[in-house]
Amino acid sequence: MKKFYWLSLIFFLACNSGEKQLVKLEGKTMGTTYHISYLSSDKKDMSSNSTNFQTEIDSLLVEFNNSVSTYIPSSTISKVNKPDTMIEVDEYFVEVFRKAQDVSEKTDGAFDITVMPLVNGWGFGYTDTIRMDSAVVDSLQQLVGYRNIGLIERNEKYFVRKKDKRIQVDFSAIAKGYGVDLVGMLLEERGIENYMAEIGGEVRAKGKNEKGEVWRIGVEKPIDDPSAANHELKDILKLENKSLATSGNYRNFYYRNGKKVSHEIDPMTGYPALNNLLSVTVIADDCMTADAFATAFMVMGLEKTLNYLQKDSTLNVYLIYADEKGEMKVMMTSTIKGVVVP
Ligand code: ADP
Ligand code: MG
Repeated sequence: MKKFYWLSLIFFLACNSGEKQLVKLEGKTMGTTYHISYLSSDKKDMSSNSTNFQTEIDSLLVEFNNSVSTYIPSSTISKVNKPDTMIEVDEYFVEVFRKAQDVSEKTDGAFDITVMPLVNGWGFGYTDTIRMDSAVVDSLQQLVGYRNIGLIERNEKYFVRKKDKRIQVDFSAIAKGYGVDLVGMLLEERGIENYMAEIGGEVRAKGKNEKGEVWRIGVEKPIDDPSAANHELKDILKLENKSLATSGNYRNFYYRNGKKVSHEIDPMTGYPALNNLLSVTVIADDCMTADAFATAFMVMGLEKTLNYLQKDSTLNVYLIYADEKGEMKVMMTSTIKGVVVP
């Protein structure tokens, strides 16, 4: 578990609020944990052999992972990453792929799922780390570029076409967000109007919590801590019918020759993106969008992010950065100010 914890809700608890019961579910998925809270008027939810949505959610997440996880050898994405140029893909893959390509276009390639060979090389992927000298970085970077892959529709089937069979894609920066959206959409289809769904710190919230208030999410202080034991909060944000995702380089990093190597890779240079941004929290209408942009902004750095936000008012952003003196500072879009809990 990382990035956030829910303030008021700790274990599988139920409490009364009028006729609605608070149901809490937790489990593991995508190499991390999930936590879901929802208000239910169904008494069955509370019984010991309850018919709550856990089984359904777990199988949905298994199905989704069988499409998008690079850690499952038989997954769709693993097939795409084999040395082939035309690969049939499923609908989950198509949804994530389309959003990824859209965010790549919008961010001039700061977000780019074809960074996979570099991510592997730098030691954040599914293969062994390799010795990354400039020649290796250059050669791996030849395979990077979101314009080198595309989606083709043929007879109601979808295929990914790769310009070079060695191209590989990475959904790690976006798939958790879509997983959260899928869980949220499932709950909505089952008539749940008040819920908060979270996977590994990416969150989607609808309606109100058990106290009749808007759901609240903590933004952690980005303190270097690979053990993820530190959960000190910088602020708490209200999340009203929106989604939120955070990216940072304070958990997933290591040092090599005294230099920090972080897991966000700049596709333009082939090297880990290190700039003055410490963490980026994005609030958007859906969690997949928030997730992808949080990663993109970490790569872009403070200035480019602020420039981008001038022309895209659909995103709300809470940025933590280091100033010239190395002190932690916060900058946020004007609408986010209104959702910070005083
Ligand atoms: P987390 O997975 O910790 O929530 P992110 O959502 O920011 O963090 O995803 C980071 C992961 O995305 C990296 O570990 C890597 O697998 C992948 N990645 C790294 N750089 C990029 C990039 N420029 N564009 C897309 N994906 C990237
Ligand atoms: Mg992300």
